[in-house]
Amino acid sequence: MTVAINAARLNDHLTALGQIGRDDLGMQRVAFSHLDIAGRNYVSGLMRAAGLSVRIDAAGNIIGRAAGSDPSLPAIVLGSHTDTVPSGGQYDGALGVIAAIEVVHALRDAPRTLRHPVEVMVFTNEEGTSFHRWLLGSRAVAGLWEAEDFAAVADDGATLAARLPDIGGNSSRIEQARRRPDELACYLELHIEQGPTLHRGGFPIGVVTGITGRSVYHIDIVGEANHAGTTPMALRRDAMPAAAQIALAVRRIAGEMEVCRVGTVGSMDVHPNAGNVIPGRVQVGVEFRDERMESLAAAEVELRRTAAELAHAEQVAITVTAQRNTPSVPIAGNMQQLIADAAGMAGLAHVSLPSGAGHDAQAIAAVTPAAMVFVPSVGGISHAPAEYTTPEDCANGAQVLLNALLLADAR
Ligand SMILES: [Zn+2]
Repeated sequence: MTVAINAARLNDHLTALGQIGRDDLGMQRVAFSHLDIAGRNYVSGLMRAAGLSVRIDAAGNIIGRAAGSDPSLPAIVLGSHTDTVPSGGQYDGALGVIAAIEVVHALRDAPRTLRHPVEVMVFTNEEGTSFHRWLLGSRAVAGLWEAEDFAAVADDGATLAARLPDIGGNSSRIEQARRRPDELACYLELHIEQGPTLHRGGFPIGVVTGITGRSVYHIDIVGEANHAGTTPMALRRDAMPAAAQIALAVRRIAGEMEVCRVGTVGSMDVHPNAGNVIPGRVQVGVEFRDERMESLAAAEVELRRTAAELAHAEQVAITVTAQRNTPSVPIAGNMQQLIADAAGMAGLAHVSLPSGAGHDAQAIAAVTPAAMVFVPSVGGISHAPAEYTTPEDCANGAQVLLNALLLADAR
């Protein structure tokens, strides 16, 4: 027997959170800022009003818990984040948090007590804008903090260790934020798609098949700087044409050849970067993303082959260095089915799709089975003030989240 979420309350709360940290350029709730803290205080209040007991863990995550009827069972976790990128949108992260709280509130209104305890987790610094360390809170819960997290320093020189107490955390006790697999039953996250697939296809619900992997390469092209007026074309060792052809090759590898899903050249450093000097050196940043690690490996082979050909043809030295890669995180088949069944219970059509963006779910998946529900982003726009999801789609997503929780509780 199902329980209905309160769509008006959901959208009111989403709108209210969207007023906190908003200016002419968008949402400015960058993690650890006073605006982020104001947003955190607002959702903490909503959690208490929904009947959750609220605590802050050592990573500054806000955790609200509702007891279940069977004290021996592990908790089912619903979560997302309330921090934003600078000048970001109103729905990224916020929808997942507000919907999770609404799910608990609706169960309390029904009233309906589940067998499992339910925890709502609001994760610290998902975006990683602060300290350049993303998924900070969810990685602490999964026990995935690294040396770089403990040593993290913000652009203003503040250390993470010094700032974490501002939101109630403590990096010297970070182990206490870690959860054991036997404490958790599963993790469910509702999020906006942040891409165009659902909106263009007219699907209200997306079942996420996996979270994309990402491979990053630094390409160093060394030729010879020389006078742009006196050096004949045939005698040049110009690093720029090789760099331009790398950019075209990356587009071809992901585009025409479809070796992997997407590929981007997002940065280029030209030396000496003067209009009257032939570039002696160009450094190029390349990334590929795909849900299959084999595809990323195949893209790397193609990139290295192209670089070797170009080095020969352009008479330059090209070094391709693989940077740190983020592995893809597949969503288990039974967890995908849970979301598909939950959409069916709500009478909503769904489509399966990969997540092209990273999410807290990929960290939490290391400690408990995770699933994600996507709802449409109008025009596929995200990380921008024009980010928008209709109130109806937000309510649909929250209802599917609630249905998934009921199904998981009954398993
Ligand atoms: Zn997000």
